[in-house]
Amino acid sequence: MMSFVDLQAQRTRLGAEIDKAIADVLTHGQFILGPEVQQLESALQGLSGANHALTCASGTDALTLILMAQNVGVGDVVFVPAFTFIATAEAIAQLGATPFFVDVRADTFNMDPESLSEAVEHCSQNGPDTPRMIIAVDMFGQPADYASISAIANGNNLILVADAAQSLGAKNPDASVGTLADYTATSFYPSKPLGCYGDGGAVFTDQKTMAETISSLRSHGQGKTKYSSARVGINSRLDTLQAAILLAKLTIFDNELELRRVVAENYESGLGNHCIVPRLTPGTESSWAQYTIRTPHRDLVAAACRERGVPTAIHYPAPLHLMGGYGDFPCCPDGLPVAEALTKEVLSLPMHPYLTPDQQARVVSTVKDALNLHEKAVSVG
Ligand SMILES: *Cc1c(COP(=O)(O)O)cnc(C)c1O
Repeated sequence: MMSFVDLQAQRTRLGAEIDKAIADVLTHGQFILGPEVQQLESALQGLSGANHALTCASGTDALTLILMAQNVGVGDVVFVPAFTFIATAEAIAQLGATPFFVDVRADTFNMDPESLSEAVEHCSQNGPDTPRMIIAVDMFGQPADYASISAIANGNNLILVADAAQSLGAKNPDASVGTLADYTATSFYPSKPLGCYGDGGAVFTDQKTMAETISSLRSHGQGKTKYSSARVGINSRLDTLQAAILLAKLTIFDNELELRRVVAENYESGLGNHCIVPRLTPGTESSWAQYTIRTPHRDLVAAACRERGVPTAIHYPAPLHLMGGYGDFPCCPDGLPVAEALTKEVLSLPMHPYLTPDQQARVVSTVKDALNLHEKAVSVG
Protein backbone atom coordinates (compact mmCIF):
# COMPACT_ATOMS: atom_id res chain seq x y z
CA MET A 1 0.00 0.00 0.00
CA MET A 2 1.32 3.40 -0.95
CA SER A 3 0.88 6.18 1.62
CA PHE A 4 0.48 9.87 0.92
CA VAL A 5 2.76 10.53 3.91
CA ASP A 6 4.39 7.45 5.46
CA LEU A 7 5.05 8.00 9.17
CA GLN A 8 5.45 4.27 9.86
CA ALA A 9 8.48 3.94 7.57
CA GLN A 10 10.19 6.73 9.49
CA ARG A 11 9.26 5.13 12.79
CA THR A 12 10.77 1.83 11.65
CA ARG A 13 13.97 3.63 10.72
CA LEU A 14 14.29 5.53 14.01
CA GLY A 15 12.76 2.66 15.99
CA ALA A 16 14.46 2.33 19.34
CA GLU A 17 15.65 5.94 19.51
CA ILE A 18 12.17 7.42 19.70
CA ASP A 19 11.08 4.83 22.26
CA LYS A 20 14.12 5.69 24.38
CA ALA A 21 13.50 9.43 24.05
CA ILE A 22 9.92 8.93 25.28
CA ALA A 23 11.00 6.62 28.11
CA ASP A 24 13.59 9.18 29.28
CA VAL A 25 10.90 11.85 29.64
CA LEU A 26 8.59 9.46 31.51
CA THR A 27 11.49 8.77 33.89
CA HIS A 28 12.53 12.36 34.63
CA GLY A 29 8.91 13.52 34.72
CA GLN A 30 9.39 17.18 33.71
CA PHE A 31 6.50 17.13 31.28
CA ILE A 32 6.21 20.91 30.80
CA LEU A 33 9.30 22.87 29.66
CA GLY A 34 11.57 19.97 30.58
CA PRO A 35 15.23 19.88 29.47
CA GLU A 36 14.42 18.49 26.00
CA VAL A 37 12.48 21.66 25.16
CA GLN A 38 15.60 23.81 25.69
CA GLN A 39 17.74 21.31 23.80
CA LEU A 40 15.32 21.38 20.89
CA GLU A 41 15.24 25.18 20.88
CA SER A 42 19.05 25.29 20.69
CA ALA A 43 19.03 22.75 17.87
CA LEU A 44 16.40 24.78 16.00
CA GLN A 45 18.53 27.92 16.36
CA GLY A 46 21.38 26.00 14.78
CA LEU A 47 19.20 24.67 11.97
CA SER A 48 17.72 28.06 11.05
CA GLY A 49 20.50 30.47 12.00
CA ALA A 50 17.96 32.56 13.95
CA ASN A 51 19.12 34.01 17.29
CA HIS A 52 15.99 32.81 19.09
CA ALA A 53 13.75 29.78 18.63
CA LEU A 54 10.73 29.45 20.91
CA THR A 55 8.60 26.33 20.75
CA CYS A 56 4.84 26.40 21.32
CA ALA A 57 1.75 24.22 21.04
CA SER A 58 1.08 24.49 17.27
CA GLY A 59 1.94 26.34 14.09
CA THR A 60 -1.30 28.29 14.45
CA ASP A 61 -0.26 29.37 17.95
CA ALA A 62 3.16 30.37 16.62
CA LEU A 63 1.37 32.85 14.34
CA THR A 64 -0.93 33.94 17.18
CA LEU A 65 2.02 34.57 19.53
CA ILE A 66 3.75 36.75 16.91
CA LEU A 67 0.55 38.76 16.34
CA MET A 68 0.05 39.13 20.12
CA ALA A 69 3.67 40.19 20.68
CA GLN A 70 3.11 42.99 18.15
CA ASN A 71 -0.27 43.93 19.65
CA VAL A 72 -2.11 43.25 16.41
CA GLY A 73 -5.85 43.35 16.99
CA VAL A 74 -9.06 45.22 16.23
CA GLY A 75 -8.51 47.97 13.64
CA ASP A 76 -5.34 46.39 12.23
CA VAL A 77 -4.86 44.87 8.77
CA VAL A 78 -2.61 41.92 7.98
CA PHE A 79 -1.92 41.03 4.33
CA VAL A 80 -2.03 37.30 3.54
CA PRO A 81 -2.13 35.21 0.36
CA ALA A 82 -5.60 33.90 -0.56
CA PHE A 83 -4.07 30.54 -1.53
CA THR A 84 -2.93 28.98 1.77
CA PHE A 85 -4.10 26.76 4.61
CA ILE A 86 -6.91 28.32 6.68
CA ALA A 87 -4.73 28.74 9.79
CA THR A 88 -2.76 31.65 8.26
CA ALA A 89 -5.87 33.85 8.22
CA GLU A 90 -7.51 32.23 11.25
CA ALA A 91 -4.84 33.49 13.67
CA ILE A 92 -5.46 37.06 12.44
CA ALA A 93 -9.25 36.89 12.55
CA GLN A 94 -9.25 35.27 16.02
CA LEU A 95 -7.50 38.36 17.41
CA GLY A 96 -10.10 40.66 15.86
CA ALA A 97 -7.73 41.96 13.19
CA THR A 98 -8.55 41.97 9.47
CA PRO A 99 -6.90 39.56 7.03
CA PHE A 100 -6.54 41.28 3.63
CA PHE A 101 -6.29 38.75 0.82
CA VAL A 102 -3.59 39.07 -1.82
CA ASP A 103 -3.09 36.98 -4.98
CA VAL A 104 -0.29 34.47 -5.55
CA ARG A 105 2.04 33.77 -8.47
CA ALA A 106 1.14 30.98 -10.88
CA ASP A 107 4.72 29.66 -11.06
CA THR A 108 5.60 29.43 -7.35
CA PHE A 109 2.12 29.43 -5.68
CA ASN A 110 3.58 32.10 -3.34
CA MET A 111 2.45 35.66 -2.56
CA ASP A 112 2.59 37.92 -5.62
CA PRO A 113 4.54 41.10 -4.73
CA GLU A 114 2.59 43.10 -7.35
CA SER A 115 -0.75 42.12 -5.89
CA LEU A 116 0.63 42.87 -2.43
CA SER A 117 1.70 46.37 -3.54
CA GLU A 118 -1.77 47.04 -4.94
CA ALA A 119 -3.42 45.84 -1.75
CA VAL A 120 -1.17 47.89 0.55
CA GLU A 121 -1.67 51.03 -1.52
CA HIS A 122 -5.44 50.55 -1.66
CA CYS A 123 -5.63 49.92 2.07
CA SER A 124 -3.38 52.87 3.00
CA GLN A 125 -5.47 55.27 0.90
CA ASN A 126 -8.95 54.02 1.72
CA GLY A 127 -8.73 52.71 5.28
CA PRO A 128 -10.61 52.32 7.48
CA ASP A 129 -8.17 49.99 9.24
CA THR A 130 -4.42 50.38 9.70
CA PRO A 131 -1.97 48.24 7.70
CA ARG A 132 0.36 46.59 10.23
CA MET A 133 1.80 43.32 8.99
CA ILE A 134 2.42 40.99 6.05
CA ILE A 135 2.31 37.21 6.53
CA ALA A 136 3.90 35.53 3.51
CA VAL A 137 3.53 31.76 3.20
CA ASP A 138 6.19 29.34 1.93
CA MET A 139 3.74 27.22 -0.01
CA PHE A 140 4.52 23.49 -0.27
CA GLY A 141 8.06 24.10 1.03
CA GLN A 142 9.42 26.84 -1.26
CA PRO A 143 10.29 30.15 0.47
CA ALA A 144 8.30 33.15 -0.76
CA ASP A 145 9.97 36.04 -2.62
CA TYR A 146 11.25 37.74 0.55
CA ALA A 147 13.57 40.13 -1.34
CA SER A 148 10.59 41.79 -3.06
CA ILE A 149 8.18 41.42 -0.16
CA SER A 150 10.55 42.87 2.45
CA ALA A 151 11.13 45.91 0.20
CA ILE A 152 7.35 46.51 0.29
CA ALA A 153 7.27 45.90 4.05
CA ASN A 154 10.11 48.37 4.67
CA GLY A 155 8.64 50.99 2.34
CA ASN A 156 5.32 50.89 4.18
CA ASN A 157 6.48 50.35 7.74
CA LEU A 158 4.94 46.88 7.95
CA ILE A 159 6.17 43.95 10.05
CA LEU A 160 7.11 40.94 7.91
CA VAL A 161 6.21 37.43 9.07
CA ALA A 162 6.99 34.14 7.33
CA ASP A 163 4.44 31.35 7.69
CA ALA A 164 6.98 28.56 7.32
CA ALA A 165 4.70 25.79 8.55
CA GLN A 166 5.60 23.83 5.40
CA SER A 167 9.16 25.00 4.78
CA LEU A 168 11.41 24.28 7.74
CA GLY A 169 14.81 23.24 6.34
CA ALA A 170 14.36 25.20 3.08
CA LYS A 171 16.61 28.04 1.89
CA ASN A 172 16.58 30.97 -0.48
CA PRO A 173 19.82 32.16 -2.13
CA ASP A 174 20.69 34.36 0.88
CA ALA A 175 19.73 32.42 3.98
CA SER A 176 17.72 29.67 5.67
CA VAL A 177 14.05 29.61 6.63
CA GLY A 178 13.84 31.14 10.10
CA THR A 179 15.84 34.23 9.14
CA LEU A 180 14.04 35.46 6.02
CA ALA A 181 11.52 37.70 7.83
CA ASP A 182 11.25 39.63 11.11
CA TYR A 183 9.44 36.61 12.56
CA THR A 184 8.97 33.08 11.31
CA ALA A 185 6.30 30.60 12.43
CA THR A 186 6.64 26.88 11.82
CA SER A 187 4.59 23.78 12.61
CA PHE A 188 5.45 20.29 13.82
CA TYR A 189 2.07 18.82 12.84
CA PRO A 190 2.76 15.11 12.10
CA SER A 191 2.68 15.39 8.30
CA LYS A 192 4.92 18.47 8.02
CA PRO A 193 8.54 17.95 6.90
CA LEU A 194 9.63 17.90 10.58
CA GLY A 195 6.60 16.51 12.42
CA CYS A 196 6.06 15.31 15.98
CA TYR A 197 3.44 12.84 17.27
CA GLY A 198 0.80 15.46 18.05
CA ASP A 199 0.58 19.22 17.72
CA GLY A 200 3.58 21.52 18.00
CA GLY A 201 5.12 24.68 16.58
CA ALA A 202 7.86 27.27 16.94
CA VAL A 203 8.63 30.96 16.45
CA PHE A 204 12.00 32.20 15.16
CA THR A 205 13.26 35.75 15.50
CA ASP A 206 16.51 37.68 15.88
CA GLN A 207 14.90 40.28 18.14
CA LYS A 208 15.76 39.63 21.79
CA THR A 209 13.05 41.73 23.44
CA MET A 210 10.34 40.20 21.26
CA ALA A 211 11.65 36.71 21.99
CA GLU A 212 11.31 37.48 25.71
CA THR A 213 7.77 38.75 25.17
CA ILE A 214 6.80 35.60 23.24
CA SER A 215 8.37 33.41 25.91
CA SER A 216 6.18 35.17 28.49
CA LEU A 217 3.05 35.10 26.29
CA ARG A 218 3.22 31.32 25.78
CA SER A 219 3.22 30.78 29.57
CA HIS A 220 0.15 32.80 30.63
CA GLY A 221 2.01 36.11 30.24
CA GLN A 222 4.32 35.11 33.08
CA GLY A 223 6.39 37.83 34.75
CA LYS A 224 9.76 37.49 36.46
CA THR A 225 8.54 34.86 38.93
CA LYS A 226 6.27 31.86 38.48
CA TYR A 227 2.99 33.20 39.88
CA SER A 228 3.35 36.73 38.53
CA SER A 229 1.90 38.09 35.34
CA ALA A 230 3.39 40.76 33.09
CA ARG A 231 0.70 40.73 30.37
CA VAL A 232 -2.36 38.77 29.23
CA GLY A 233 -0.99 35.62 27.64
CA ILE A 234 -2.12 32.16 26.61
CA ASN A 235 -1.16 28.57 27.43
CA SER A 236 0.86 27.39 24.45
CA ARG A 237 3.91 25.30 25.24
CA LEU A 238 5.40 22.36 23.38
CA ASP A 239 5.12 19.18 25.50
CA THR A 240 8.49 17.84 26.63
CA LEU A 241 7.49 14.49 25.10
CA GLN A 242 7.06 16.08 21.69
CA ALA A 243 10.38 17.93 22.05
CA ALA A 244 12.13 14.62 22.81
CA ILE A 245 10.53 13.01 19.74
CA LEU A 246 11.57 15.95 17.55
CA LEU A 247 15.17 15.78 18.83
CA ALA A 248 15.32 12.15 17.70
CA LYS A 249 13.81 13.02 14.33
CA LEU A 250 16.22 15.96 13.85
CA THR A 251 19.14 13.52 13.67
CA ILE A 252 17.85 12.30 10.28
CA PHE A 253 16.17 15.50 9.08
CA ASP A 254 18.90 16.57 6.62
CA ASN A 255 18.90 13.13 5.06
CA GLU A 256 15.11 13.14 4.83
CA LEU A 257 15.19 16.51 3.05
CA GLU A 258 17.67 15.03 0.58
CA LEU A 259 15.43 11.98 0.01
CA ARG A 260 12.44 14.26 -0.64
CA ARG A 261 14.53 16.20 -3.15
CA VAL A 262 15.29 12.98 -5.04
CA VAL A 263 11.57 12.12 -5.20
CA ALA A 264 10.84 15.64 -6.52
CA GLU A 265 13.53 15.24 -9.21
CA ASN A 266 12.11 11.92 -10.34
CA TYR A 267 8.60 13.34 -10.52
CA GLU A 268 9.87 16.31 -12.49
CA SER A 269 11.74 14.21 -15.04
CA GLY A 270 8.75 11.88 -15.43
CA LEU A 271 5.97 14.44 -15.54
CA GLY A 272 7.56 17.72 -16.61
CA ASN A 273 6.45 17.32 -20.24
CA HIS A 274 2.89 16.27 -19.40
CA CYS A 275 1.60 18.79 -16.85
CA ILE A 276 2.77 21.87 -14.96
CA VAL A 277 5.23 20.74 -12.30
CA PRO A 278 6.57 22.87 -9.41
CA ARG A 279 9.22 25.43 -10.37
CA LEU A 280 11.87 26.57 -7.94
CA THR A 281 13.24 30.09 -8.19
CA PRO A 282 16.97 29.72 -9.06
CA GLY A 283 19.10 29.31 -5.93
CA THR A 284 16.10 28.29 -3.84
CA GLU A 285 15.83 24.95 -2.04
CA SER A 286 12.42 23.59 -1.11
CA SER A 287 11.71 21.28 1.81
CA TRP A 288 9.17 19.56 -0.48
CA ALA A 289 6.36 19.39 2.05
CA GLN A 290 4.11 18.66 -0.92
CA TYR A 291 4.66 17.91 -4.59
CA THR A 292 1.76 19.67 -6.27
CA ILE A 293 1.15 19.52 -10.01
CA ARG A 294 -1.23 21.65 -12.03
CA THR A 295 -3.48 20.38 -14.83
CA PRO A 296 -6.90 21.36 -16.20
CA HIS A 297 -7.74 17.62 -16.05
CA ARG A 298 -7.18 17.47 -12.28
CA ASP A 299 -10.36 15.57 -11.40
CA LEU A 300 -9.76 12.98 -14.09
CA VAL A 301 -6.18 12.40 -12.92
CA ALA A 302 -7.31 12.18 -9.28
CA ALA A 303 -9.94 9.57 -10.23
CA ALA A 304 -7.37 7.50 -12.17
CA CYS A 305 -4.99 7.64 -9.20
CA ARG A 306 -7.74 6.54 -6.82
CA GLU A 307 -8.50 3.58 -9.08
CA ARG A 308 -4.86 2.45 -9.10
CA GLY A 309 -4.19 2.89 -5.40
CA VAL A 310 -2.15 6.09 -5.69
CA PRO A 311 -3.25 8.47 -2.93
CA THR A 312 -3.56 12.16 -3.82
CA ALA A 313 -4.86 15.28 -2.07
CA ILE A 314 -6.10 18.71 -3.08
CA HIS A 315 -4.19 21.54 -1.43
CA TYR A 316 -6.45 23.56 -1.44
CA PRO A 317 -9.99 23.11 -2.81
CA ALA A 318 -10.92 26.82 -2.47
CA PRO A 319 -9.13 30.12 -1.89
CA LEU A 320 -9.66 31.62 1.55
CA HIS A 321 -11.97 34.44 0.43
CA LEU A 322 -14.43 31.78 -0.80
CA MET A 323 -14.30 29.73 2.41
CA GLY A 324 -16.89 29.83 5.16
CA GLY A 325 -16.11 32.50 7.73
CA TYR A 326 -13.69 34.43 5.49
CA GLY A 327 -15.95 35.80 2.75
CA ASP A 328 -16.40 39.27 4.24
CA PHE A 329 -12.73 40.20 4.51
CA PRO A 330 -11.18 42.58 1.98
CA CYS A 331 -9.38 41.37 -1.18
CA CYS A 332 -6.86 42.94 -3.54
CA PRO A 333 -8.80 45.43 -5.73
CA ASP A 334 -7.39 43.69 -8.85
CA GLY A 335 -9.05 40.44 -7.73
CA LEU A 336 -7.52 37.05 -6.95
CA PRO A 337 -7.61 35.30 -10.34
CA VAL A 338 -4.54 33.08 -9.84
CA ALA A 339 -5.62 31.82 -6.41
CA GLU A 340 -9.06 31.00 -7.85
CA ALA A 341 -7.63 29.20 -10.90
CA LEU A 342 -5.12 27.17 -8.87
CA THR A 343 -7.76 25.70 -6.58
CA LYS A 344 -9.46 24.15 -9.64
CA GLU A 345 -6.27 22.63 -11.09
CA VAL A 346 -3.86 21.61 -8.32
CA LEU A 347 -3.23 18.03 -7.26
CA SER A 348 -0.71 16.90 -4.63
CA LEU A 349 1.03 13.57 -5.26
CA PRO A 350 2.38 11.21 -2.59
CA MET A 351 5.45 12.87 -1.04
CA HIS A 352 7.64 11.56 1.77
CA PRO A 353 11.26 10.42 2.10
CA TYR A 354 10.46 6.71 1.99
CA LEU A 355 8.72 6.34 -1.39
CA THR A 356 10.51 3.47 -3.14
CA PRO A 357 11.74 3.88 -6.75
CA ASP A 358 8.94 1.48 -7.79
CA GLN A 359 6.30 3.55 -6.04
CA GLN A 360 7.64 6.76 -7.59
CA ALA A 361 7.52 5.11 -11.03
CA ARG A 362 3.94 4.00 -10.40
CA VAL A 363 2.88 7.53 -9.46
CA VAL A 364 4.50 8.89 -12.63
CA SER A 365 3.00 6.26 -14.95
CA THR A 366 -0.47 6.56 -13.40
CA VAL A 367 -0.55 10.34 -13.83
CA LYS A 368 0.96 10.12 -17.33
CA ASP A 369 -1.52 7.43 -18.46
CA ALA A 370 -4.45 9.46 -17.18
CA LEU A 371 -3.27 12.56 -19.07
CA ASN A 372 -2.58 10.56 -22.27
CA LEU A 373 -5.99 8.88 -22.12
CA HIS A 374 -7.54 12.29 -21.88
CA GLU A 375 -5.58 13.53 -24.91
CA LYS A 376 -6.78 10.49 -26.95
CA ALA A 377 -10.40 10.97 -25.86
CA VAL A 378 -10.20 14.60 -26.97
CA SER A 379 -8.69 13.80 -30.41
CA VAL A 380 -11.24 10.99 -31.05
CA GLY A 381 -14.22 13.02 -29.82
C1 LIG B 1 -0.06 23.41 8.85
C2 LIG B 1 -0.11 24.86 8.56
C3 LIG B 1 -0.40 25.81 9.56
C4 LIG B 1 -0.88 25.44 10.94
O1 LIG B 1 -0.05 24.60 11.66
P1 LIG B 1 -0.69 23.76 12.88
O2 LIG B 1 0.53 23.25 13.59
O3 LIG B 1 -1.52 22.70 12.29
O4 LIG B 1 -1.46 24.69 13.73
C5 LIG B 1 -0.34 27.15 9.25
N1 LIG B 1 -0.02 27.56 8.00
C6 LIG B 1 0.25 26.69 7.01
C7 LIG B 1 0.61 27.22 5.66
C8 LIG B 1 0.19 25.31 7.25
O5 LIG B 1 0.45 24.45 6.25
